[in-house]
Amino acid sequence: MKTFTTRRSLQQYLQQIKTLNKTIGFVPTLGALHQGHLSLIEFAQQQNDVIVCSIFVNPSQFNDPKDLEKYPRTIEADIKMLEQVNCDILFNPEVNEMYDGNEQWHLNIGETEHLLEGEFRPGHYQGVTQVVNKLFGIVNPDTAYFGQKDYQQFLIISKMVNMLNMPVKLVMCPIKRETNGLAMSSRNIHLTPGDRQHALVLSKTLNWLSNNFNQNNIPALKKEAEQMINAEPGVELDYFEIADGDTLHPANDSTKSIVALVAAKVGKTRLIDNILLSPKS
Ligand code: AMP
Repeated sequence: MKTFTTRRSLQQYLQQIKTLNKTIGFVPTLGALHQGHLSLIEFAQQQNDVIVCSIFVNPSQFNDPKDLEKYPRTIEADIKMLEQVNCDILFNPEVNEMYDGNEQWHLNIGETEHLLEGEFRPGHYQGVTQVVNKLFGIVNPDTAYFGQKDYQQFLIISKMVNMLNMPVKLVMCPIKRETNGLAMSSRNIHLTPGDRQHALVLSKTLNWLSNNFNQNNIPALKKEAEQMINAEPGVELDYFEIADGDTLHPANDSTKSIVALVAAKVGKTRLIDNILLSPKS
């Protein structure tokens, strides 16, 4: 695997690849890699000639400086994992390589930015669009791969790509879970053994909802799901929403694309999860 830490050197290398008519698949990450990230690389490998993975803990998407400081950084283990799955290129820049000084960024993405995650992490999606725009400009991928785990992130990046006519195709890959159902996340490293048990209520509730979706109306199902999560010790619910998958507004019985999204603090760690639901029959 080739590793680049400067934009210029990566761009020069990728230009050569482009002249050979090879397709580039791109997987942007914050590092602390797990099987979820690797599954994105595998999807990318099935559809492209050359795979670029970026590892960059982007400060502009962290609204809480303590969260940024605490974010796990495991670059040596990450490199080993990427080599094991035969990733071709790692882009691992320092912060000052990506941002020079007080760069300004604002993209008017509409209200989706302020709903759900956006409400609990103000400014988060401005930081996400800022860095993804920058990374797309550097890598110029044919296709970029993101996880359904961050459903709202995918929605917002799709809006940006449409709005700015970016020449990139986006693919959303399914959520990788532990065998007990816990959605894999770099943040799981912070969970105590007790937290890990309590955290299971999130995926269990989403599965329960999926299995019982036709049994009751949406407001009643939402209330029951909230009660299930609130009954779990050590879990503090931020939100549980059964939402329209395009607008993220609460879904109703005629909504075509439906996603249930949850965010909660488990011990000291904030986790998110979601499930796609079939419209009511
Ligand atoms: P992150 O490093 O957390 O920003 O994640 C980088 C990419 O991996 C994002 O597109 C995430 O949605 C995706 N991802 C994170 N966790 C998972 C998972 N458990 N399954 C599939 N994709 C994931």
